Amino acid sequence: MEEWNEMRLQSLLPRQHKIIQKINEKFCNQIREKYPNDEERVRRMTLICNGQIRMAYLAILCCKRVNGVAYLHTEILKHEIFKDFFEMFPNKFIHITNGITPRRWLLGCNIELSKFITNRIGNKWIRDFHEISKLKEFAKDKTAQEEFLKIKDDNKKVLFDFIKKENPIRDYKGRIIDHYPVFEDSTGVLVDAQIKRMHEYKRQFMNTLHALILFNEIKKDPTSRKTKRLIVIGGKAAPGYDIAKKIILFIFLVAKKINNDPEVSKHLKFVFIENYNVSKAEIIIPAADLSSQISTAGYEASGTGNMKLSINGALTIGTEDGANIEMREAISDEWWPFSFGSSAEEIKKMRKEKTYNPLDLYIQHPHIHKAIDMLKDGSLAKNEHEHQAMLDLYNILVGGDTPDKYFVIKDLLSFYETQKKVEDLYIDKYKWAEFAIHNIGGMSRFSSDEVINNYAKSVWEIDPCPLEPYILERVTKEYQETTICFVAKP
Ligand SMILES: *Cc1c(COP(=O)(O)O)cnc(C)c1O
Repeated sequence: MEEWNEMRLQSLLPRQHKIIQKINEKFCNQIREKYPNDEERVRRMTLICNGQIRMAYLAILCCKRVNGVAYLHTEILKHEIFKDFFEMFPNKFIHITNGITPRRWLLGCNIELSKFITNRIGNKWIRDFHEISKLKEFAKDKTAQEEFLKIKDDNKKVLFDFIKKENPIRDYKGRIIDHYPVFEDSTGVLVDAQIKRMHEYKRQFMNTLHALILFNEIKKDPTSRKTKRLIVIGGKAAPGYDIAKKIILFIFLVAKKINNDPEVSKHLKFVFIENYNVSKAEIIIPAADLSSQISTAGYEASGTGNMKLSINGALTIGTEDGANIEMREAISDEWWPFSFGSSAEEIKKMRKEKTYNPLDLYIQHPHIHKAIDMLKDGSLAKNEHEHQAMLDLYNILVGGDTPDKYFVIKDLLSFYETQKKVEDLYIDKYKWAEFAIHNIGGMSRFSSDEVINNYAKSVWEIDPCPLEPYILERVTKEYQETTICFVAKP
């Protein structure tokens, strides 16, 4: 968790430093009053410890409410990382699962799918997303399935065009040297997207190792895959996050390996989207078939990318983490076929009992072994800098004294097996469409409208305030004139 150095704060913001000191003095006395003769607790809870200011503790103390943003994460906050604070301020901790706005993430970015929905269930879903449940009735309908698949395919053409023209490959100085390839024909190409900030716990590393396993399998047997696949990874790394940048380099080198192989690239292509942002999300999400939500369980607070992809008809391959758990419950296990990996409990247990032994798994599974070895055998790295970076990544997985904190190899096995199930379902395209429509229809709980209503009640304690009629009239008029909202005529 974020800590700020006290000396640095004192020299940059002396007044703020004084205020924080004062707050901490009062707080420590408050702890002593509530729990007499428990200096150990004061030491655990103090805002300033070893010359570092604990920013999360300061935030909890000063805030009226602390929201865990999904059920699992709220439980972890209350019973693990902020246990003492929950004991002292039980009423501060609340749980309101995050949501997304269906106006931007469906109506705005996927006009054709929006029309598809409105033609079947009317346009009330735009303002009341509970209406989306009615779409489930059409999941079995052949015409609906065909139309859905056609819309997905058209969106893929837009994405492919974007990749071809507007997502260059650059050299170390940022000069454009090439563009990523895409399949000439988008038909039947599984678009497999992992788009989110770069972080070890989000495990872009695991996804890329899986791409290498596929590379090796196709290389050995070109008929080994049931479907063509375009893997898209997009994400930014914080400027000082060294490992995240090495993982981006790994993605880049694996993409080069796959795309430049004449045999493999007939079946598999791999694209890294530079400078991932909302505008790019709005192009990628409507085209995605598969949504990768593969965090180490217990680390992803909620996720919202998972929701954006799901309401656009992507199926999720995901761990039991954050809001994925609640999405599975809402969509039902029947229509959520690609759950995989260790649970948060299992991860906790392995960490506590030190039973995770990546080296054993590495030795037992040749396909994993082979992919990981490519980090150091010169298959990827072409110069000293690249070689050193790949070696550092290798050591995170199997070379260090302590096993990888994000359990990449542990879950890579079940990720690999689950990806085979993805291929099996994808070749039955109507069945896939049935699943996709069920996923959209199950997402009614995840609109930000509902989230904002809940905040109004339990955080801000405010009642709805009716708009001035002239403002409502003006906004309604503007809303109807906006071209992207033309399906919304009430
Ligand atoms: C939604 C969104 C995110 C969050 O994605 P997660 O998969 O929930 O981490 C990050 N960046 C952009 C640009 C987004 O649109």
